[in-house]
Amino acid sequence: MTDGMVIAVDGPAGTGKSSVSRGLARALGARYLDTGAMYRIVTLAVLRSGIDPADTDAVAAAVDDVDLAVGYDPDEDRSYLAGEDVSTEIRGDAVTSAVSAVSAVPAVRARLVELQRRLSDGPDSVVVEGRDIGTVVLPDADVKIFLTASAEVRAHRRNDQNVANGLADDYATVLADVRRRDHLDSTRAVSPLRAADDALVVDTSEMTETDVVAHLQDLVHQRAGARR
Ligand code: C5P
Repeated sequence: MTDGMVIAVDGPAGTGKSSVSRGLARALGARYLDTGAMYRIVTLAVLRSGIDPADTDAVAAAVDDVDLAVGYDPDEDRSYLAGEDVSTEIRGDAVTSAVSAVSAVPAVRARLVELQRRLSDGPDSVVVEGRDIGTVVLPDADVKIFLTASAEVRAHRRNDQNVANGLADDYATVLADVRRRDHLDSTRAVSPLRAADDALVVDTSEMTETDVVAHLQDLVHQRAGARR
């Protein structure tokens, strides 16, 4: 019933976007594309090359040479840099602190947006998760979802995730980082974070992950029914 549907899931960090997008893809038997992972892989490549992430020209010159790959499986979100599995390293502090600066570089966005469009194409349904999917990458997506939640709720979720992944337990720093990234992501000149005019905005502050997935599944099925 949901064959060949393109579902865009956007929103800021810590809305449960990744878990929810994966859960939705699993429930629909769809592919899953994590565009944030792509920006993180490029950021890791920049850092490893010794390039200052704030040096826009140097970042722009380096992006075409980054050999990156990501998986489609919602149960195994794998990221590769030149064939090396960097799935854990791209979630670390060094990459997380630098990724907003790198992703604000127009040449980085141009290359990744083009790649994301190509990877989203095909006969199977796909859930594409990011910041600008409904507005820029796939403006013709069948369903556009924009997840929101308060900064405090998002910071708590991200900190819990860090602890579960064996990283530091530091809510205050995480909250500051959430606010800093929100500001950078929503004020940058290229593709600022905002809901598409035709996006369905879902506030997840008071919802469990299971509730959100079920709600989104309903929305997708309604849209699929309306399409037939
Ligand atoms: O989703 P995640 O937190 O992994 O994304 C990391 C960063 O990549 C975001 O903070 C944002 O700066 C950038 N990003 C983006 N556009 C996307 C996905 C992620 O600018 N479509």
